[in-house]
Amino acid sequence: MFTKGIYMSMEFSVLASGSSGNVSLLRMQGMGIMVDLGLGPRLLSRRLQEVGSDWQDVNAVLLSHTHSDHWQERSLACLVERRIPLYCHAIHENELAQVSPAFNRLREQGLLRNYTCEESILLEKEIRFRALPLSHDCGATSGFRIDSPLGSLGYVSDLGTWQPSLATSLANVDILAVEFNHDVGMERNSNRSPHLIARVLGDCGHLSNDQASELVSEVLRLSEPGRPQHLVQLHLSRQCNRPTLARNAALRMLNDLGIQLPVHTARQDRVGPILRLGPRPKFSGKIPRPRMPMSHYQPLLPGWED
Ligand SMILES: [Zn+2]
Ligand SMILES: [Zn+2]
Repeated sequence: MFTKGIYMSMEFSVLASGSSGNVSLLRMQGMGIMVDLGLGPRLLSRRLQEVGSDWQDVNAVLLSHTHSDHWQERSLACLVERRIPLYCHAIHENELAQVSPAFNRLREQGLLRNYTCEESILLEKEIRFRALPLSHDCGATSGFRIDSPLGSLGYVSDLGTWQPSLATSLANVDILAVEFNHDVGMERNSNRSPHLIARVLGDCGHLSNDQASELVSEVLRLSEPGRPQHLVQLHLSRQCNRPTLARNAALRMLNDLGIQLPVHTARQDRVGPILRLGPRPKFSGKIPRPRMPMSHYQPLLPGWED
């Protein structure tokens, strides 16, 4: 359950992830930030309830891009009713203004905020976010880095490739959420159309398990010891991936690096665990990461995906 009232920790949970809808919730210091809005209102309310939360906890929504698994018309209408601001890119604004009556109402009522990539935007005292440009076949696609004194989240989904600058932007986050979309062999051998296979595997499609592992590995290399504290795997393809394949790809990479890190594989059909971080410890100097063989990995806790 998300903590009620004043929460002196950072709490993050994926409410749904995959090509049928994406929503995550981050709460810290009395502020609730939703990333994407890709479920209908009824299911979204139920998923919020399942993590002990509700719409009252949501103070802002960040939109990553305008593919239909990342926003829904009726959920945008909920933002209007509840007077919750939506943060989006100017390109999203142009696109949504043409197709979404709820979006236009949101804009008319002064609930629309624009972000530009790489700009640091203050949401609340000491809580900032920065949009990170991603390579994807949508007008503009953004990942997010959200920082607060209690911790930070890096969230990147829907990208076909990554550049070193993205890994640099994600360095030293406490929770790293990255798309592990497909297994390349499963994608190539699927009965999808050649066009769709080429799209997914292309630089403007989605990250494979191996590409995502390489990105995480680079973020770990650039981060100080102890960060990130959690890895969350996002947006797994139902047809061309399996949770065990995605998880094993990440564990292999972590084992090669000699790093122990909890791995959570987000699901489409249920909420993920609530990841909770306390006040951030201060590191003085370099502390070497423990080198742990695979057999010393902690057992999974209830709710963790295997
Ligand atoms: Zn998507
Ligand atoms: Zn997309």
